[in-house]
Parts: sequence; structure tokens; C-alpha cells
Amino acid sequence: MARIVQKYGGTSVGDVDRIKNVAARIKAFRAAGNEVVVVVSARSGVTNELIARAKSIHPNPPEREMDQLLSIGEQETIALTAMALEAIGVDAVSYTGAQAGIFTDKVHTKAKIKTIDAKPLEKDLSAGKVIIVAGFQGINEEGHITTLGRGGSDLTAIALAAAIKADKCEIYTDVDGVYTADPRVVQDARKLNEISYDEMLELASLGSKVMQTRSVEFASKYNVVFEVRSSFNNNPGTIVKQEVAYMEKVVVRGVAVDKDQAKVVVSNIADKPGTAAKVFRALAEANINVDMIVQNVGRDGVANLTFTVPQTEIGKVERTLAPVLKDIGGSVTLDDQIAKLSVVGVGMRTHSGVASTLFSALAGAGINLELISTSEIKISVVIAKSKADEAARVAHKAFELEKL
Ligand code: ADP
Ligand code: ASP
Ligand code: MG
Repeated sequence: MARIVQKYGGTSVGDVDRIKNVAARIKAFRAAGNEVVVVVSARSGVTNELIARAKSIHPNPPEREMDQLLSIGEQETIALTAMALEAIGVDAVSYTGAQAGIFTDKVHTKAKIKTIDAKPLEKDLSAGKVIIVAGFQGINEEGHITTLGRGGSDLTAIALAAAIKADKCEIYTDVDGVYTADPRVVQDARKLNEISYDEMLELASLGSKVMQTRSVEFASKYNVVFEVRSSFNNNPGTIVKQEVAYMEKVVVRGVAVDKDQAKVVVSNIADKPGTAAKVFRALAEANINVDMIVQNVGRDGVANLTFTVPQTEIGKVERTLAPVLKDIGGSVTLDDQIAKLSVVGVGMRTHSGVASTLFSALAGAGINLELISTSEIKISVVIAKSKADEAARVAHKAFELEKL
């Protein structure tokens, strides 16, 4: 007997038949004597629809109200999944995030989990019930509903697995596992048998939406080994775990594309100590994640700062920088027709020539590089959005990932 946390994503619970399919799978795990805690997402498309509806009423909806609204998507699927289980004779009970004791900080729309009080859940588990927990949501100390950022049901599952010391954590989705690139874009992408936390973290934060970034960070911190697999078949998935020595033999393990970024250029600001600090302090205070910062060499006392931000934050960036620019001078231009392409692999630490292979391959395809950034295990470039998919295929081929 094992204690298993399973998470079923939006496509897996996308309609009534799929919810019934998930219930049948859960029944088999329970019948084998396991303790099962299930996390479900909203039906696919529901969260997006709710966001669109909110925006049609208010261009910039209050974030607390957004969380009230978005949390209902998961509330529907927990109840339906519990009903589907009861309908086939499995004792089940649904929990909202708050009922599952998931306490977060106060940052609405991207709250961090602070603690989990698993006592109520443990009680129902020992009574033999299957517990269905709403993904993506928690409650803050003032009793307000919070959400954990897009894709946050992954985080709910991994945090619960850590809190109840689960033997297994399984993330069920609509693909067989983590691939060398998004299989919808790169047809000959290969499924990986395993991948290190660091590589998964980079791929996720660089645009591979198969796992939410924060959830991988959490898994790495608390050493929660998890498996990404399909809810539509029984194929073995991809194990995500701590790095082991042989993993460095592979130079590039995956290619990621992020089309949800925008480029911000702050031009003609005073070239003196403290200006960059003012810009980035303001952005940090507004909780805006900034990436790929480049400052050009100042000339005639003025300089330009270029960086990328999530596209969803563009409005916030403009509002946040307006008062700062009054102080330091300069102007802002925004470009959302960009994409970030990245190659990731722990083997880059011990192999050279990765950048030149990537740049030559992209140049060969006539793809222009607007920004470049590197870290120990990744290289990222900003390119035109219209070239993003082609660039992914070119990079995949350049590193022969179809042969992995
Ligand atoms: P869920 O709703 O189950 O959370 P997501 O849509 O969030 O599912 O994530 C699964 C999707 O991630 C896949 O359908 C696939 O298109 C996409 N994806 C992007 N990059 C990768 C990758 N490297 N490996 C596997 N899937 C990827
Ligand atoms: N429903 C939320 C979203 O679409 C959370 C999730 O699916 O994990 O982002
Ligand atoms: Mg997801």
C-alpha cells in the first residue's frame, strides 16, 4: 500500500466523459489498497474564459476579485470528480484549497504557499476516503481566497505530496511526459525518461508549460520526486528528480519557447549611478518579474535599458514606470511581437560550443537575435515571435535531440 498524490490537468477533466475516465483510473488505484489524494484543475479553457469575462467588465480587475472568480473553475471539477467516484462506488470527498488547509501569503493571483495544515485531510484519509482537492487555490491569513499563478494545480499537488509525506506524486496530463521540446511544435521531439529538477525548472520558467515553474522549485526544495504522465494511457512517464552524475553526459536536454514575453526598452535615461536601481526597484515593488536585462554603454550622458517581462504585465509596467520616468527622464517602448527561445541542459557546465552551435543554426535559418542571455545550464535568445516555432525546430535539430 502506498500513499499517492495524483494531479489531473484541465484536458484530463475537460468534460463529463473525461471526468468519468479519471474516476475509473482513481478507483483502480484505490482498489489496489492505496491511499489516494487527487488534485484537479478547472476544465481546460475555463480559467481563460473567466479571465476574459472579467476583462470585459473591468480592464484591470481588482486582484482579490480575480481570485474569487478564478477559484470557481476548480470548485466545479472537485465536486464533479467526487460525484463521479461516488457513482462508481468509491467513497470520496472534495476539498477547496481552504478546506485542505492550504495557507498562502497575501499576493493575490500569484500567492505562495506558506503552510499546509493536513489534519482534516489525514482524518478523511484514514477513514478510507479518496480526497479530491481543488488545485491552484489557497487562503490567506485574513481568510481571503488566493490563487497560485497559472498552472498552479501542479504546485498544489507537489506541496500536498510534501505535506502528507506521500510515497508517490504523479502529474497526469495530455502528453506522455516531458519531451525534448513541445511535441505540438516539434514533431520529432522525444519523451525523456528522466530529467533533473534544475533542467525542468529552466524549461518550465523558459516557457515549457508542461509544469508550472513554482511547482518545480517547490519539488526541488523539498525533494519531492514526481512523474509526469498521461491520463489517456498507461505509458511510463518522465521522472523528475535530483541530478545524478550521468545526466551531464547530455549537453542539451530540451528546447523551450516562450511566446508570452514582451520586450521593454527604457531609452534616454540619465547615465548615472542609481537610475537602473530606481527602475528595477519600482518594478520589484509592483511584483513584476523582470528577465534578460541589458544596459547599453552610456553615450552623451544618456543610456538605454532593455529587458523582458511577462506580456500580461505590460499595463502594470507602464503604470509603474510613469512616475519613475518623471524623475529620471527617458521614455518607454514596448514590443510584444517577440519570443524567447532557450536550450537547456546540465551538460552545458562541462561542454563548450553550445552557444556557437545555436547561433550558427539560427543564423543559417535567417533568424535574427535581439537579446542573448546565458546561465550555467541554459542559453536564451529573444527573436521575432513569427519565427519562434521554426527556431524551436532548428535548435532541436542542431543538437540532434531527435536522437536522444
Ligand atoms: P495540464 O492541463 O494537464 O496541466 P498543460 O497544458 O499545462 O496540461 O501542459 C501540457 C502541455 O504542455 C502539452 O499538451 C504540451 O503541448 C505542452 N508542452 C510544452 N512543452 C512541453 C514539453 N517539453 N514536453 C511536454 N509537453 C510540453
Ligand atoms: N486552472 C488554472 C489555470 O488554468 C490552474 C491549473 O490549471 O493548473 O491556470
Ligand atoms: Mg498545466
